[in-house]
Amino acid sequence: MKQAERDFDVIVVGAGFAGLYALHRLRSAGYSVRVLEAGDGIGGTWFWNRYPGARCDIESMQYSYSFSEEIQQEWNWSQLFAPQPEILSYINYVADKLDLRKDIQLNARVASATFDSENARWIVTTAQGDTLLASFCVMATGCLTVPLEPNIEDLDKFEGGLYRTSRWPHEGVDFAGKRVALIGTGSTGIQAAPVIAEVAEHLHVFQRTPNYSLPAGNRPMDPGYLKDWKENYVDRRRAALATRNNTLNNAGKRSGRDASPEEREREFEARWQAGGSSSGIGFMYTFTDMTRDQSVNDHASDFIRRKIAATVEDPVTADLLTPKHYGIGGRRICVDTNYYETFNRSNVTLVDARRDPIKRLTRTGLENVSGTTYPFDVIVLAIGFDGMTGALLQMDITGQAGLKLSEHWKNGPRTYLGLALSGFPNMFLINGPGSPSVLSNMVTSIEQHVDWITACIGHVKASGKNTINVSKTAEADWFDHVNETAAGTLIPNSDSWYLGANVPGKPRFFMVYLGGAAKYKEIIDKAASGGYEEFNLR
Ligand code: NAP
Repeated sequence: MKQAERDFDVIVVGAGFAGLYALHRLRSAGYSVRVLEAGDGIGGTWFWNRYPGARCDIESMQYSYSFSEEIQQEWNWSQLFAPQPEILSYINYVADKLDLRKDIQLNARVASATFDSENARWIVTTAQGDTLLASFCVMATGCLTVPLEPNIEDLDKFEGGLYRTSRWPHEGVDFAGKRVALIGTGSTGIQAAPVIAEVAEHLHVFQRTPNYSLPAGNRPMDPGYLKDWKENYVDRRRAALATRNNTLNNAGKRSGRDASPEEREREFEARWQAGGSSSGIGFMYTFTDMTRDQSVNDHASDFIRRKIAATVEDPVTADLLTPKHYGIGGRRICVDTNYYETFNRSNVTLVDARRDPIKRLTRTGLENVSGTTYPFDVIVLAIGFDGMTGALLQMDITGQAGLKLSEHWKNGPRTYLGLALSGFPNMFLINGPGSPSVLSNMVTSIEQHVDWITACIGHVKASGKNTINVSKTAEADWFDHVNETAAGTLIPNSDSWYLGANVPGKPRFFMVYLGGAAKYKEIIDKAASGGYEEFNLR
């Protein structure tokens, strides 16, 4: 359906966790809102990433909305870390409960957004040919939205099934009796491999860089645990806000440097065994200096290396699975269910795609640079995303005086607090580059951003002005602060997608604020309570 030009207070781009809460919050504040969503369903990340084994890596009791006590009491998670279909059901349940669908336009991929300075409004067009107008534009486009294109030749030559984990067919893929290649061993590949291995005739995992992974300790939800959380939800959510990543994960209060090697070892082992919130990012909070002190980080890295050696029976495979050239936390720490154990199966082979990179696909499989060929029925690409900036740069965004976002970010993704862009008035980002985003509980961080944006729009309206634009200086200072904060840790020493290292030609800047979620909240609250003094209102 082609839409005639229509005027809204706010256009929200994206109908994932962020866009849906933005719609609810802004609509409740009395604004007319339209959500534009590229997919033919809501759910964002959880709509697209349907690959086998997909689940969250922050416990579901926490990886969920906190804004409604009714919702958090009503919904029951079946597992500690819910699988993707359950998270998607939850999102759909919330949308129905809050009657959100009537303001969501599906199959509406935003092609461009242009600020019309004269009329103080955004003109938003979709690839489907609609034009919509709005006073404000909120980009709820997700941090991991745009899949990378593989640097592998002849993708179209392969006559078997070729699938991207982030564009997984809704009807699923049948691996039974199939020879399968899985390319990529990040969080996605690590989740998918054990599940595919259970049904495939044979699975070849092509690994370029090994990652550090910990057992999730996923299990059916214990009714007592669920009850305990529900009885204490309000207090626990509040306590989570005081942490470094908006998550209660049993964070240690001591410095690892002050602990003896035996004490450190005991702590690491306890968390490895416990799983749940002590796993994954939670493991990085075992000691206060895990990402700051080289000797503590070395010990933690070595602990995982020894776990790999103890788990994987074939020493050559174990060695290949062991990260050696970077420390734990430098790249996204992974959580898994039987990942390392999977390589003890007789139907699983690990291939070193660093030593012998994949060159091209053939009609019947793939070929490495050395000329080695492998026959496959199915090839799965789990090769990652153009993170943090990809979705925003995919749209043609033009601010004041013809300023293009691509130009604005030529030398790095400058934002103010990950929320606003200088020269792009009345536009807000949710979990934008420069905010704690992917190194925090995303859902909680989304709620904070949406609440902040709603208050900011209220401020503009109350002031009788119609344009708000953050100053260039505030934006530049924040960008420097984000990078300085990261430089004070060991994290940027590794090539990671946090730095844009996985995308050829992408400017290398650390895109996540590492000062801690609690401190970050203080900063954004102060920016608001101080009367938005870094912004110009007109
Ligand atoms: P990723 O971490 O970027 O991993 C992509 C993998 O593909 C890497 O191992 C990469 O190797 C490999 N690769 C890329 N091109 C290749 C090629 N031509 N040949 C061989 N290997 C190639 O992407 P991801 O696994 O999708 O995860 C991205 C982020 O999404 C995660 O860090 C996490 O934040 C989020 N995520 C979370 C969960 C969860 O647990 N809830 C699950 C999935 C994803 P190199 O490392 O050598 O480049």
